[in-house]
Amino acid sequence: MNIHEYQAKQLLRQYGVAVPSGEACKTVAEARASAEKLFAAGHKLIVIKSQIHAGGRGKGTFTHGFQGGVKLAKTLEDAVNFAENMLGKTLVTKQTGPDGRVVQTILVAAAEKIKREFYLAVLLDRANSRPLLMASTEGGMDIEEVAEKHPDKILKEWVDPAVGIQPFQARKIAAGLGLKGDVFNAAVKLILGVYKTWWECDASMVEINPLAIVETPDGKESITCVDAKIGLDDNALYRHKDILEMRDLAEESPLEIEASKFALNYIKLDGSIACLVNGAGLAMSTMDIIQHYGGMPANFLDVGGGASKDQVSAAFKIILSDPNVKAIFVNIFGGIMDCNVIATGIVEAVRETGLKLPLVVRLEGNNVAAGKATLASSGLTIISGDTMADAALKVVKSVQA
Ligand code: GDP
Ligand code: MG
Repeated sequence: MNIHEYQAKQLLRQYGVAVPSGEACKTVAEARASAEKLFAAGHKLIVIKSQIHAGGRGKGTFTHGFQGGVKLAKTLEDAVNFAENMLGKTLVTKQTGPDGRVVQTILVAAAEKIKREFYLAVLLDRANSRPLLMASTEGGMDIEEVAEKHPDKILKEWVDPAVGIQPFQARKIAAGLGLKGDVFNAAVKLILGVYKTWWECDASMVEINPLAIVETPDGKESITCVDAKIGLDDNALYRHKDILEMRDLAEESPLEIEASKFALNYIKLDGSIACLVNGAGLAMSTMDIIQHYGGMPANFLDVGGGASKDQVSAAFKIILSDPNVKAIFVNIFGGIMDCNVIATGIVEAVRETGLKLPLVVRLEGNNVAAGKATLASSGLTIISGDTMADAALKVVKSVQA
């Protein structure tokens, strides 16, 4: 699950990380009130930031032609104008795809006087099975671009998960970024806090881009997270009720939301052969074998180890609401699961949805004979596959025909 920048900043603040304060606004009137307060408090410049689950907002363009999803306003009129041009409008960035995302919320904050921008992130390095702290002096830029053109400018510190991050590691990063004096000390505290946020929230990634040295009103320097992005591990969300409340369904695909209601693991893809499979590994190999025989999978769909009839039926409805689907391949290995439960679910779902598309079923394992009998006696045109290869070949042929 991903959360918005303003929510990520709330979490970071809870862990003592320096973030600029600001207000999330859902209407132009709210934005106007926030901006008025900031100008009345003596701020000369404020920043208005579109909140969507995608980066590259600063350089993005709205579909109605307005430039920039992050804007600096010197006057209340400017602030209100920016709010009007963002709220309810569609922002397209390098990360949203051509359809863009509708901005439902904007963050209104006093603008920071930025002197230097850095990059800081914590993520899981799967190759080393360790948390990884990453930092760079090239802040504000695409980190992929930095990694490609100047790999030497990326600092890395691996953390031993058993002992946790050590202060010297944060000091190494701060020194590597060339920081000195009070800002160095503040950066060490900030880095330790960002790591703690990542660890305690069960985040998959915390990315601060830019992390910035800013000039405070009294002319001193401090360090703060100007932007923040947090991705969370879905498998751990059950123990973070407060974070789960931050979920924004408007940012997720409607089919994927429907699937999550039935605890189905669904990801839409671009092909024409829908797959309904139990177990992620089998789902992966099913997609592979479809491609091996020249077809293209329309989705990844794992109904899990103990799928119920309701889940199978929901899975069929989700599959059928994708207009690209031309055939369905059900590939079930009944290890824990009773093949007959699946077969009954399939028959019910086919009747309920009035399925017209070719349906190929391969069942194997626990109670398979009863499952096959249920399918055969249903009177429905279900193509049965003896092996995974046989079934895959049949489904690919049915689409080509
Ligand atoms: P992104 O484009 O989605 O990554 O959004 P960011 O929050 O990173 O904003 C883009 C850029 O806008 C930053 O790299 C900054 O240069 C600039 N920016 C954002 N907030 C402020 C601010 O408070 N003050 C100033 N001066 N610039 C800002
Ligand atoms: Mg950014």
